[in-house]
Amino acid sequence: MRTYRLAVVKGDGIGPEVTEAALRGMHAAARRCGFSLDAADVDLGAERYLRTGEVLDEGTVSALRTHDAVLLGAVGDPRVPPGILERGLIVALRVAFAQSVNIRPVRLYPGVQSPIRGVTDQNCDLVVIRENTEGLYTGGGALAHAGTAHAVAVQNSLTTVAATTDTVEFAFRLAQARRRRVTLCHKTNILMHAGQLWQEVVDQVALRYPEVEHDYVHADAMCQHLPLDPGRFDVVVTDNLFGDIISDLGATVQGGLGLAASANYNVAGTAPSMYEPVHGSAPDIAGKGWANPAAAALSAALCLAGLGEREAALCLEAATASVLAELPSLAGPGMGGDTAALGDRIAARVMDVDPAQHTGGDGSLMSALSRIARERAAAVI
Ligand code: ATP
Repeated sequence: MRTYRLAVVKGDGIGPEVTEAALRGMHAAARRCGFSLDAADVDLGAERYLRTGEVLDEGTVSALRTHDAVLLGAVGDPRVPPGILERGLIVALRVAFAQSVNIRPVRLYPGVQSPIRGVTDQNCDLVVIRENTEGLYTGGGALAHAGTAHAVAVQNSLTTVAATTDTVEFAFRLAQARRRRVTLCHKTNILMHAGQLWQEVVDQVALRYPEVEHDYVHADAMCQHLPLDPGRFDVVVTDNLFGDIISDLGATVQGGLGLAASANYNVAGTAPSMYEPVHGSAPDIAGKGWANPAAAALSAALCLAGLGEREAALCLEAATASVLAELPSLAGPGMGGDTAALGDRIAARVMDVDPAQHTGGDGSLMSALSRIARERAAAVI
């Protein structure tokens, strides 16, 4: 039987609750599709930092590297100053494992109510592809004369043609397997140097995908178009900061943070990809069973797709969507079950769901990502 080695970083706050729920669905999908998951817990996050003073050590990075994928819950804690875990753990792993592409689906599932009038499951199915290691997130810069009237801060933004090309190429490959449209989102009118580089890369890559249309939308205009007319987008490609912001807007459009999944994806397969819900550790609801496990379960489905396990990914996505459609509320005490109970419901549903009913066929993100993973595996062989 094929077995995948999965490193599981449950993390802090609601991280362990949603990850355990998602894992139950993942194991069920593996059972249904005839393979197994060897899941190993890895102790990282705020608790470990507060206990040991260590955020991420070389030994842990090497251990993670030996796995086929990393499943992450959430890291964060009000006792840890901002930046320590975000930069020292999440950004560090993205860089160490060359996870140069962040995949954030914005899909409204049937039966889920968007807070935006007019958005339905028929017109909201797009994917934000965000460059994941550069831009303003490289951290370079300085703060001089801090705390004085003469304080000066410089925050550098880095854009390389290599990482931009990887990201744009991936966006076009995905679009080719979906509805064949790529939209570049940037601020080319203000950030003229980086903007020009992005536009030139898009124009170059587009030559290799003549059947994929491409257009351009400013990041500020995107904040209007995405909620009011999501149907005009298929794959949106963008830089790190804009991607961070517009995909949270997307999360709201699709029903909230409890439903938003993501993948930090190593395109070449040289290191494991890392799959995580978009939400954080939500300390306000941690331990109450009020966290919706759908975002973690859909991230787990992306993980199965990233491993090339199309059928299992579709079953887990369909089961999650089917349970979501039954919930009286998408978060909090009124969900109709606590986090663990919803995880059990998703896992049970995995065994008898018809994936074709829920998942949007060959053009769905799960199908497209599985195909890309299989083509990559075949190319390596
Ligand atoms: P962190 O500092 O770790 O990012 P946070 O609370 O600032 O934590 P989020 O964890 O993203 O940020 O939470 C933002 C809000 O969304 C909180 O009110 C939280 O309760 C809610 N929320 C987040 N995830 C979920 C979920 N899975 N189900 C229900 N509500 C959630």
